[in-house]
Amino acid sequence: MKIKKDVIVIGAGAAGMMCAIEAGKRGRSVMLLDHASKLAEKIRISGGGRCNFTNRHTRPENFLSHNPHFCRSALARFTPQNFITLVEKHGIHYHEKKLGQLFCDSSSQQIIDLLRHECDAAGVEWQMPCRVNNISRIHAGTAPGRFMLETDRGILMADSLVIATGGLSIPQIGASPFGYRVAGQFGITVTPLQPALVPLTFAQGQLASSVAGLPGVAIDAAVSCNGACFRENLLLTHRGLSGPAILQISSYWQPGIPIHINLLPDLDAAAWLLDHRHSTGLLSKLITQYLPRRFAQAWCDDIMRDQPAQPINRYSETGLRQIAAQLHNWQITPSGTAGYKKAEVTLGGVDTRELSSKTMEARKIPGLYFIGEVVDVTGHLGGFNFQWAWASGHAAGQFV
Ligand code: FAD
Repeated sequence: MKIKKDVIVIGAGAAGMMCAIEAGKRGRSVMLLDHASKLAEKIRISGGGRCNFTNRHTRPENFLSHNPHFCRSALARFTPQNFITLVEKHGIHYHEKKLGQLFCDSSSQQIIDLLRHECDAAGVEWQMPCRVNNISRIHAGTAPGRFMLETDRGILMADSLVIATGGLSIPQIGASPFGYRVAGQFGITVTPLQPALVPLTFAQGQLASSVAGLPGVAIDAAVSCNGACFRENLLLTHRGLSGPAILQISSYWQPGIPIHINLLPDLDAAAWLLDHRHSTGLLSKLITQYLPRRFAQAWCDDIMRDQPAQPINRYSETGLRQIAAQLHNWQITPSGTAGYKKAEVTLGGVDTRELSSKTMEARKIPGLYFIGEVVDVTGHLGGFNFQWAWASGHAAGQFV
């Protein structure tokens, strides 16, 4: 079997389907192929099963990339409102959870159905499951790209080839390094990859075992690292720290450096402790005014390992100021992350200097496009990653 199409999109996830829809609407013959047998599993599991499909406040500042300006053009041409319009056209009810994050009221399956229907309306053809064994270029140099794919369904040919195979996170549901390998095959640079939006872990003894041993305790904190700061919940787990504030900061964390946790972001802790300097109560008891009881006890045990617990009035003013400084800047150095099995996204990807920000086409390989998470554009937590998938898919869809 030898099939020829105008456009082949590899990866039927968020970005791939959006690109196929746009190209199909322009009258291009489009084939969408994926090695998975179930469609868009990542959308299905996203947002706790309700898909946080966009964020109303999407701005380029919500994305990490070696070239922070790269995402501007695509984001400006396909905005959160454009996707909301599509959601409303399909009668999907949604709500804002917090901070501009929009979720389906019912199920993320509705977003998959929306994309599937739009693909069908645009005449997109499918090959699923389909394994691509080899990609070659028929015309080299700068002539319009024609690509030949050897697959387990036969030979497929296309003028434009779009790589939308996503990142490395959650290999259990089909993530693969395919996109990075294709980039490598065509001499296109890939920036260093690491799991992001991921829990942070601690080696035994690093984080006081007393603090680490409180799974389920949540604290409203401001967590900072490498110039970024996020004020959200932090969650203690068996292996370390998780929760939105930690997932966000994990994208900025590098091995070996500490994260800084402000446990009392709304308070002047020094003034507060000094107000109580004549108290005969225990420090940990006082701290429970603002922090969960079990955590306050464990935290005091951790930072005052050498000093036995004592009433507040036994501390010097300097001692109280030091404790206040620790409450505002608890420094801990993670030993690692929970890895791609738990990460929501992959940080890094196809180097944006290799791509046109208008079309997502590779500068040195005409006809080859990269979109979505495989590109070195990584969003914050909160619907930004889907917005990038829609916007980059839409951008490429106008040109393939
Ligand atoms: P994907 O959606 O990952 O799609 C890639 C497709 O390529 C897949 O269908 C895969 O099967 C296919 N593929 C891979 N390798 C091959 C190959 N070798 N051959 C053929 N096909 C291949 N983002 C948000 O904005 N909001 C959320 O609520 C949210 N929740 C998330 C929850 C979890 C648990 C996870 C893991 C991620 C979440 N994300 C969320 C991130 C978001 O899912 C991704 O950023 C987004 O799906 C990326 O879209 P994509 O199309 O680039 O890649």
